[in-house]
Amino acid sequence: MRTQRQVVDYSLQKRAVLRDVHNGKIGTLEVCDASPYLKSAARFHGEPTDDRCPICRRDNLTLVHYIYGDELKQSAGQARKLAELPVLAMTLREFQVFVVEVCQSCAWNHLTQQYLLGRDALTADELDQVEAVAASAAAGRHRDSVPSFPRWDGR
Ligand SMILES: [Zn+2]
Repeated sequence: MRTQRQVVDYSLQKRAVLRDVHNGKIGTLEVCDASPYLKSAARFHGEPTDDRCPICRRDNLTLVHYIYGDELKQSAGQARKLAELPVLAMTLREFQVFVVEVCQSCAWNHLTQQYLLGRDALTADELDQVEAVAASAAAGRHRDSVPSFPRWDGR
């Protein structure tokens, strides 16, 4: 996503955990502990991948996107479909996304990535477009018929 920023990648940590599992330093039960909530989030909101589970190799991994931020109010901490994130990124100034990979067979789960999304990263021109689309959608009319929009007072 274009407004994605402050990306933190956890693949090194994942590799370290998997190494310890393969060495027998960590039991698979310790890493295959996805909660019922996480598993149902994977089922209903998850993004399928082509990556095999590194533990059981029976199933492909599913990515679950959790959103956090003050502007989300009661939605904070919820899992959202990947397709919903660009819409939220246009309407909210800033929110945090945590991406967790889950295996629905063995319950392996690991945080893979976190990043920020939101309008704060958009340029003034992009914001004008977003406002125009939002305003014409709200008015239910073609954007040409929509009167002038308030300018983004930008940074
Ligand atoms: Zn698995």
